[in-house]
Amino acid sequence: MTLRLCNTLTRRKEEFTPLDPKNVRMYVCGPTVYDFAHIGNARPVIVFDVLYRLLRHLYGPEHVKYVRNITDVDDKINARALRDYPDLPLNEAIRKVTEKTANQFQADAKALGCLEPNFEPRATEFIAEMIAMISTLITKGHAYQAGGEVLFNVASMADYGKLSNRKLEDQQAGARVAVEAHKKNPGDFVLWKLSSAEEPGWDSPWGRGRPGWHIECSAMSKQYLGEVFDIHGGGLDLIFPHHENELAQSRCVHGTDVMANVWMHNGFLQVEGQKMSKSLGNFVTIDDVLRDWPGEVVRFNMLRTHYGQPIDWTLQGLQESRKTLLSFQRWYNTDIDPTYGHEQSQHFIETLSDDLNTPAAIAVLHKLSGAISELGQKDDFEQHRLITHFSNAVRLLGFDNLDKFHHRGMGNQISVYNTKIDGLLTARLAARAAKDWKESDRIRDELAAMGVSIKDNKDGTTSWEVKR
Ligand code: AMP
Ligand code: ZN
Repeated sequence: MTLRLCNTLTRRKEEFTPLDPKNVRMYVCGPTVYDFAHIGNARPVIVFDVLYRLLRHLYGPEHVKYVRNITDVDDKINARALRDYPDLPLNEAIRKVTEKTANQFQADAKALGCLEPNFEPRATEFIAEMIAMISTLITKGHAYQAGGEVLFNVASMADYGKLSNRKLEDQQAGARVAVEAHKKNPGDFVLWKLSSAEEPGWDSPWGRGRPGWHIECSAMSKQYLGEVFDIHGGGLDLIFPHHENELAQSRCVHGTDVMANVWMHNGFLQVEGQKMSKSLGNFVTIDDVLRDWPGEVVRFNMLRTHYGQPIDWTLQGLQESRKTLLSFQRWYNTDIDPTYGHEQSQHFIETLSDDLNTPAAIAVLHKLSGAISELGQKDDFEQHRLITHFSNAVRLLGFDNLDKFHHRGMGNQISVYNTKIDGLLTARLAARAAKDWKESDRIRDELAAMGVSIKDNKDGTTSWEVKR
């Protein structure tokens, strides 16, 4: 079986050959724990969980090591701690924020059907390792101290910018931000910065301070996976600067040609064509979505699109996903032996192994479920064989408890759309007041297309519900 993966580093789909098939190693950048994760943040968690499951299937569970870090030192965390716990000492307040958020993140990931990674290290546990790396970078001439910071000198690395395909000269010529006076090059980035007395900090050779964001992942990946490992993943927005800088640091410290052989990036989850993000304010938390929808539906909806493509997160998509899962549930059998029938699952696994093509793999499931129902009672033995194959495949995608999913979390199913629906209803009321019946009907149709039906009440208000 050949696994092929799209590699951001080479911009090609390549056959995956692990450095050591008895120790296949993957690192995925995890959350910065200052606030609940939104449903866009769930995408890399789910996508790389599917890859983890596939790797475990191909190489054996004991031969795969998956690390996903938790960033628990960041200025956003400090700000949140000051806001939420103004009466506590800062260290204690920070711990409260990070504990609460990390626990919520882990609960969210579990509800979405994700296996726990083998290691979930926290940045604050590896400060000494980061300090050691920064010292090496200074000794080797890749970093310098200036303006209360230690900075990485991007010009010291011949092929800096390879992952994100940026040339140093372009960055200089096109730099719109004024070069901060203490930097040798506008692209130089922080490895360590000094903390004020009120800010959290650790003692270091350069004074009491805290690490930059990128160095955390360099230290933690080295600790668990070594100087060079197989796969490094995250969302598209991490290619630059985070991953570019991570790999620059790691390669310069260790004197290696690569940090990871394969770099994989998932596309964005979007709302009406825009990336879901905290800064745009167009987000719903995973927790909110899970109040309204079972985790399986959310997971399935995510997997219907190839990980490299953008996904538009819609109510209609969630409804379709639920319908499909209900139809799959009919044939999902929990009693089967998970080791039996794998040879018949070849086609499914081959499909998934083509750069984690989950939509094509789901199409295989549709075909199979069609074949099972067509067989009916005609051939018990053949039907059982197909059901085994089908159930194994469903489980490999991470739906371990599909038999029970319909009992879970069916709320009003609208959280993504509250604001949009309210806006449309207001616009429709205005259209009706202006006797613009055409516009009013158009809005009714638009809502219907979203799965929302409306009813005009006698008192002039409009009520609405989601059609099931
Ligand atoms: P952050 O907490 O912003 O560092 O994001 C954590 C992970 O979620 C990173 O891998 C990001 O690339 C990813 N991510 C953030 N927003 C989105 C989005 N809208 N769609 C897909 N992935 C995202
Ligand atoms: Zn990282």
